[in-house]
Amino acid sequence: MGTVNGMTVEGATVPTITLNNGVEIPQFGFGVFQIPPADTAKTTLSAFEAGYRHIDTAQMYQNEEGVGQAIADSGLGRDEVFVTTKLNNDGHGTESAVSALEASLRRLRLDHVDLYLIHWPIPAKDLYVQTWKGFERLLADGKARAIGVSNFQPEHLDRLARETKVVPAVNQIELHPRLGQVELRKYHEQRGIATEAWSPIGQGDSLTEDRIVELAGKYDRSPAQIVLRWHIQHGSIVFPKSSNPERMRENIDVFGFELTDDDMTAIDNLNQEKRRGPHPNLFGA
Ligand code: NAD
Repeated sequence: MGTVNGMTVEGATVPTITLNNGVEIPQFGFGVFQIPPADTAKTTLSAFEAGYRHIDTAQMYQNEEGVGQAIADSGLGRDEVFVTTKLNNDGHGTESAVSALEASLRRLRLDHVDLYLIHWPIPAKDLYVQTWKGFERLLADGKARAIGVSNFQPEHLDRLARETKVVPAVNQIELHPRLGQVELRKYHEQRGIATEAWSPIGQGDSLTEDRIVELAGKYDRSPAQIVLRWHIQHGSIVFPKSSNPERMRENIDVFGFELTDDDMTAIDNLNQEKRRGPHPNLFGA
């Protein structure tokens, strides 16, 4: 139970995943990509009202202030909300990664984030190892309770393993039924890296797949709930975006049913290795 914006609301019952440094992350959160800065405080407050307690933002989204305002206005305690932000592509480098988080914290009105990610590896800049060393310092200083990466490929993770000390707690990757990322998920599992799925419903694309629509009928659930449940049963962390309070509630309501193994496999079989976003090696250079 907690107070949000003067109202007493219960957080949704969401399991947590224990990251490789012991920090617990709610497996279901709310992503604020493409929410206009001026709407972010209101939309994030609606998400809190719908029971969300984990927010995924980024410097690139330019809406950290709105997230910070929503947290301040909500009345929720700092330890009741899990906040992730990500380093922008122009902030690579040890010192700039540190100062970029300090600027994020001012915008978020927080003294620490729960998770700080390198948004893209940008191999052409070849600075992600130095950047990670800045992240290690932020972790040691308590400015981030956990540190991780996003859009990293195995070769980037291998290099961090060779040249730095801390294993990333998560890798946030594009992952949805049309892009199953089977090999990368296996790689994460072997190394104790949690998988976070971005665009978990394929920005809406997954919802019109015949098989998904058919399963929605079978389980008497919406297509979005079927896809989100598939992620949850695979152990991935998800944070779909919606500005519509009804859909926010619908999306997080995936803990009262279970897909059979055969239906999980049927969704696995929709994989076409088809990305919506750019290839991680090419973006941000
Ligand atoms: P998403 O898969 O969450 O889809 C969002 C779209 O689906 C929106 O258009 C929304 O209106 C629609 N939608 C949501 N719920 C619905 C429902 N129940 N029924 C019908 N339509 C529904 O895509 P996303 O926003 O790209 O990804 C989610 C989050 O992932 C982002 O907000 C962001 O936090 C993160 N992300 C990270 C990266 C990265 O590079 N690390 C890239 C993209 C997104």
